[in-house]
Amino acid sequence: MTYLTNGPEETEALGERLARRLEAGAVVAYTGDLGAGKTAFTRGLARGLGIEDAVTSPTYTIVNEYPGKIPLFHFDMYRLSSSEDLFDIGWEDYLARGGVIAVEWSERVEDVLEDALKVVIHRDPECDDGRCITIEGGEAYADLSL
Ligand code: ADP
Ligand code: MG
Repeated sequence: MTYLTNGPEETEALGERLARRLEAGAVVAYTGDLGAGKTAFTRGLARGLGIEDAVTSPTYTIVNEYPGKIPLFHFDMYRLSSSEDLFDIGWEDYLARGGVIAVEWSERVEDVLEDALKVVIHRDPECDDGRCITIEGGEAYADLSL
């Protein structure tokens, strides 16, 4: 299902709606360029999980952890060269902790994320604040409309 958002608030709102459907252990894998809105969407995920901490980009830290009833683990794979690096930082431990895992630059570690829910974000070439967001999770996510 594809959604159109016009501005970061709408992208956050979509993330928030998605989060309400997610169960512990869900992995959300983003595809989308720098500035697409992956971190904005993750802010919404956090809100939907009832997390009040401010979500910031994990670009330099690789992973940011947000505690909650269902915790959020927000990864950025931009600086990883392969999925081997991911296992070195304890990926399997994160999977076992019963959180929601959101992964920016998931294409870097595609082989590890085959079963993840894919969220693909494209900019609208005609509108600065327009984004086309496709959630590839089938019918379960088909009516998240704004
Ligand atoms: P990424 O994590 O993909 O690099 P960010 O979420 O950090 O992207 O940044 C997205 C940027 O694009 C922000 O500056 C935000 O204000 C802007 N923006 C404009 N329109 C949208 C939109 N519809 N959805 C998300 N972000 C948007
Ligand atoms: Mg980001």
